Amino acid sequence: MADILVVEDEEPIAEAIRLRLESEGFEVRVAHDGLGALDLARQKRPDLVVLDLMLPGMDGLDVCRELQRGTWIPVLMLTARTDETDKVAGFAVGADDYLTKPFSMRELTVRIRAILRRVERVHAAAPDGPVQVRDLTIDERRRRVLAGGREVALTPLQFDILAKLASSPGTVFSRERLMDEVWGYRDPAGSRVVDTHVAALRRKLGDEANEPRYIRTVYGVGYALREDDA
Ligand code: CA
Repeated sequence: MADILVVEDEEPIAEAIRLRLESEGFEVRVAHDGLGALDLARQKRPDLVVLDLMLPGMDGLDVCRELQRGTWIPVLMLTARTDETDKVAGFAVGADDYLTKPFSMRELTVRIRAILRRVERVHAAAPDGPVQVRDLTIDERRRRVLAGGREVALTPLQFDILAKLASSPGTVFSRERLMDEVWGYRDPAGSRVVDTHVAALRRKLGDEANEPRYIRTVYGVGYALREDDA
């Protein structure tokens, strides 16, 4: 059963999360600040971290960065407001997903299960060596991407979208398919969420809006990774 580290300074929220996740069969450890969290993560590597953004002392973004040093650990970030959410979404610190407070315990569980399923699929499906598509090198095991020899820092979701498109270059993936196969659930905000993440991914790859080098938009359908320069 998955081991989940919950990092939340508000004890009633931390306790509610712990109770719910334990009732779902997860192993749960709780830390109330960043240093405590890093300490617990060092003692035993968790399978997933539920991480509050606003913590006393070291904030959630710094904790997230520290957690990702060396090995990748999936993180579900908890944020209080939309502007905080934007901050998390914009940062390549390695948060896999985020929930805005207040959230339901049911929603929390759905997101955690979706991330764990995604991690499992990524590990099961990852090719042994890096995948090369034109001047893109995508290394799923090490979760690294090089574009024209330059390392590109992607968030886990951006990475998974790119890896999915690269699993079949030239194939058009619909937004719904990307949502099912990358996110693992249908976001209530719908396909715009996919567009937002693809747009951010393109910016990082240096794609031009009019003449994309890497990711082609097929209007009304979805996205494809270009396999040639034609
Ligand atoms: Ca807090």
